[in-house]
Amino acid sequence: MTSTTTPIMLNSGAAMPPIGFGCWQVGRAAIAEAARAGYRAFDTATFYGNEKQVGQAIGDAGLARADVFVTTKVWRNDMGYAGTLKAYDTSRRLLGVESVDLYLIHWPQPDDKLVTETWRAMEHLLDRGEVKSIGVSNFEESDLDLLARHSDVVPAVNQIELHPLRQRKRLVAANTARGIVTTAWSPLGQGGPVLRNPELKSVAAAHGVSVAQVVLRWMLQKQIVTIPRSGNAERIAQNIDLDGFELSPAEVARIDALAN
Ligand code: NDP
Repeated sequence: MTSTTTPIMLNSGAAMPPIGFGCWQVGRAAIAEAARAGYRAFDTATFYGNEKQVGQAIGDAGLARADVFVTTKVWRNDMGYAGTLKAYDTSRRLLGVESVDLYLIHWPQPDDKLVTETWRAMEHLLDRGEVKSIGVSNFEESDLDLLARHSDVVPAVNQIELHPLRQRKRLVAANTARGIVTTAWSPLGQGGPVLRNPELKSVAAAHGVSVAQVVLRWMLQKQIVTIPRSGNAERIAQNIDLDGFELSPAEVARIDALAN
């Protein structure tokens, strides 16, 4: 049975936990709570303005560096070759780590050169062993094509908005075909209609779990990395408590049928 403790292998050779804690709009206390609850991956970004708190919370938890997987992202204002190198250094310092596990381009940009120069800087960091894996976020297939025309380094991850009501099947297949692991941002649809969906509610009731757990378990079984966020201790723990039940192939198919 697929488990939350079985890592997903990236094309860089690194191993990534299949579930991490989304750090958007949360502070040190919630991140420390997540570490206590068993999360070992943390997803932040320069744009979130909380890299320092993420680093502090990981420190508070007393976790060994090797047991923690930290993702951060370069924001559009910092993109370009020199800007990316400088932004990476700042992120690394704020997080209090020597090297980040996964560094992502947060959003593609209309200026192709800006994107390819950013990627060149990230490749440089990878070559020098200053970052363990590099990837992208919010990239469509055309954006992936742009990188492929300029570089032999395939992104390890493409982090995209994905939940049962927005499944991005075509893009997920394109990621997989290229050897790119998909990470789902807003996997719970930011607590909106996803969690009220009748089909998901009926699957949840059959297992005696919450809709959030069904959604996250569905992604775990599909080997899509998830990074749910919560500011509530009970829900933080609930969202990583996914190993006590398994969705049947028929249930997976029912959820698959909710959207394209
Ligand atoms: P999520 O889909 O994780 O939803 C978070 C919301 O769901 C919160 O309001 C939370 O409320 C609620 N919630 C969490 N767990 C439960 C539960 N078990 N039952 C009921 N409600 C629940 O939203 P995010 O947009 O934060 O996405 C997750 C992460 O993805 C972000 O934190 C960030 O790291 C990343 N992200 C990346 C983007 C990108 O461009 N690359 C863009 C957006 C997000 P409560 O706190 O009260 O529990």
